[in-house]
Amino acid sequence: MKNDRIALKTAEEYEESLRKLNLVVYMFGERVKNVVDDSIIRPSMNAVAMTYKLAHMPEYEDLMTATSHITGKRINRFCHIHQSVDDLVKKSKMGRLLGSLTGCCFQRCVGMDALNALSMVTYDIDKKYGTQYNKRFLKYLEYVQNNDLVCDGAMTDPKGNRGLAPHQQADPDLFLHVVEEKKDGIVVRGAKAHQTGAVNSHEIIVMPTISMREEDKDFAVSFALPSDTEGITYIMGRQSCDTRKLEEGAIDRGNQLFGGHEALVVFDNVFVPWDRVFMYKEYDFSGQLVEQFASYHRQSYACKVGVGDVLIGAAQTAAEYNGAEKASHVKDKIIEMNHLNETLYCGCIACAAEGHREPSGTYYVNTLLANVHKQNITRFPYEIARLAQDIAGGLLVTLPSEKDFKSPLVGNWLNKYYRGRADVPTENRCRILRLIENITMGTAAVGYLTESMHGAGSPQAQRIMIARQVNLKQKQKVAKRLCGIEE
Ligand code: SF4
Ligand code: FE
Repeated sequence: MKNDRIALKTAEEYEESLRKLNLVVYMFGERVKNVVDDSIIRPSMNAVAMTYKLAHMPEYEDLMTATSHITGKRINRFCHIHQSVDDLVKKSKMGRLLGSLTGCCFQRCVGMDALNALSMVTYDIDKKYGTQYNKRFLKYLEYVQNNDLVCDGAMTDPKGNRGLAPHQQADPDLFLHVVEEKKDGIVVRGAKAHQTGAVNSHEIIVMPTISMREEDKDFAVSFALPSDTEGITYIMGRQSCDTRKLEEGAIDRGNQLFGGHEALVVFDNVFVPWDRVFMYKEYDFSGQLVEQFASYHRQSYACKVGVGDVLIGAAQTAAEYNGAEKASHVKDKIIEMNHLNETLYCGCIACAAEGHREPSGTYYVNTLLANVHKQNITRFPYEIARLAQDIAGGLLVTLPSEKDFKSPLVGNWLNKYYRGRADVPTENRCRILRLIENITMGTAAVGYLTESMHGAGSPQAQRIMIARQVNLKQKQKVAKRLCGIEE
């Protein structure tokens, strides 16, 4: 970052900055000594690195970068506070672009969504209580922007018994909470589950996970910490087929370069200085923070449209390699996949285009449409995946390993009997099938399917928001007027 009007790290600088962190990461029961070069974690780092790489490419500059409203510098859009509807629309387009270039979850959106939600909520808390959170937050934001940092937005608590409020839990640590107030800050304990991209992040921004009442005020806390702060431990989640990344050869991975990851993040009596605390016991704003973060993050599921692009391309290629692309039912399935994928695109563009300015100056998405978009995301990728598997055929799950294909003993048989069209090398057929397997059943299925279901809130969370946001009375009024009902 040589020019002081530009605050953009290169992908290489990002990787180097991660090497300087001293994260406590566990996987398979052991501490990971070298996080950046670990074979299982590295593909996820590669995916985040794309958010840096693209920002330096002239053809993507407009989508990937923005002008900071606090410093006027050119910054990465992932560190930007949306200043217009145009910014919101570009955010959706950026998500699709990155999804299509990585074929997986590129992890950096959660931090962007946390920053934007906090820019509004800190402002609103100050207005009600005369606190100084927004000033603190903007100072922190400037630090994040100037250093082009990846922030992990950490919302989801383990939650224990879902029928009980935080203060009623048998173990109070099941919701992250304040355990001590000191002169210079607070001490917190608890955990955040399913944290996307956690060990690829420089910072971790904690937010409460549900709306809260006064009895739960110790749980209504939001703050940011460097990811390697003492007392923070990361425990990596497993993904289906994850150990294929440890195997020799890369064909069986499906996606050669990229992946995602999630981790449980444990806060064991961690100290947070006051200048990094953005909400402290203002329980009446906890619901607003959850709702605004969730709506932004539901918009962020534009990423799945990009992964859908990859899957559609893979399905069409598999059909061609099989010589089946001209069959009318195959053509129709490809049309259906595109129809569903573009319908998803409509949702993430619409909630952005219908966005508005909040009192803080931040532009916020249309909540109803963001929730409708995410509700569609809980369904359509599953249907797109079903159609891709239909087109791919059963070989998708019976294909022998790359090692067998390369074996001097049986390789010839595999290459002979698993050939599709004579002019297409069997290896290419294997590669495309492995990619479809990766997205619909393997490591990337976490991002494309299960995360589509549960990420940014499970389906029921969106249905509650849809019920709250639609104006049913108005709809009844117009219906009654048209058929002459007077009450
Ligand atoms: Fe971003 Fe999508 Fe990954 Fe969420 S699932 S972090 S929105 S890429
Ligand atoms: Fe997510």
